[in-house]
Amino acid sequence: MIDINELTKQKLFLPDATRGAVRFLTTKQLEETGTKGIVTNTLHLLINYGANNIEKLGGIKNLMNWHGMVLTDSGGFQVFSLIHSKKWKGKIHKDGAIFKSPKDGTQYELTPESSIDIQMKIGSDVLVCLDDCRKTNLSRKEAEESVDRTIKWAQRCREYFDKEYGGTKETDKLLTCVVQGANFLDLRERCAKELVDIGFDGYNFGGFVVDEDGELVLDEMRAVIENTPSDKIKYAMGVGKPEDIRRASEIGYNWFDTVLVTRNARHGTLYSSDMENEVLRIGNAEYANDLNPIDSNCDCEVCKNYSRAYIHYLLKIGEATGMTLATIHNLRYYQKLIEGLS
Ligand SMILES: [Zn+2]
Repeated sequence: MIDINELTKQKLFLPDATRGAVRFLTTKQLEETGTKGIVTNTLHLLINYGANNIEKLGGIKNLMNWHGMVLTDSGGFQVFSLIHSKKWKGKIHKDGAIFKSPKDGTQYELTPESSIDIQMKIGSDVLVCLDDCRKTNLSRKEAEESVDRTIKWAQRCREYFDKEYGGTKETDKLLTCVVQGANFLDLRERCAKELVDIGFDGYNFGGFVVDEDGELVLDEMRAVIENTPSDKIKYAMGVGKPEDIRRASEIGYNWFDTVLVTRNARHGTLYSSDMENEVLRIGNAEYANDLNPIDSNCDCEVCKNYSRAYIHYLLKIGEATGMTLATIHNLRYYQKLIEGLS
């Protein structure tokens, strides 16, 4: 059994199990990297598995035989961006969005309330309120609209979760919200304060975490930290590179996730403390005959048993075992990075 309140205080890196699995890893291999929690994608599970189906089968944790924590996103970020980019047919309205599954044409409606229902059916431990997330470079007016709607929807999620399910007391689950406001510091501050008045277990940094130059938006991130209680979850969504996690942690964030760790692994970008910039591109010819481990300071199964030469070879020929080994190592590198944060 996991103690969800204990995890609230810890620093955590949450790998993406987007479709209900961390690609190329068994649940046991995932556990062995020291991972305590994962993020799954509400929309992917809804479209591919069906919320009612997952519920009938005992939830995603039962299916995965995963004993750690599961955080679900609200599904909003993806639906809105798929509708905006016209990749999916749908309509965004004042209560959320209506859209058609590209898989079988089923029509779904995502609202603050339905988002909570879907996340409950998936069997999440940490739920995220539906928020109004938009593209980058918002005008002040657009950012204000996004903040107003995000607060309204968060209020509805809070009321629905408490009334319909009995809140944390009855469910042992946590409800977190998303702070919007784009790059307007006063809007970030107002959004944070009004969400604190409603009261949540966590305040996630929403919107884009890096600017056009790839730099963390630290001022905006600070504006959220300074206006939210220190004993609640501060989830820096989508952060990020090792140095960005260290920076975000220094200013008070404690939960992180990025698809990069596992995606990079599959593409041969590995992390290693032996390298000055922490990155080792295993596909480079220089590693073809290198019998050293990926990282001489790593305690993972891969570094204990295999060489750079072998991983280089496996990835070069597209062998699935190579993807597995690279993913195990990269995740272990990130979990060690988190363990080392003060
Ligand atoms: Zn390793």
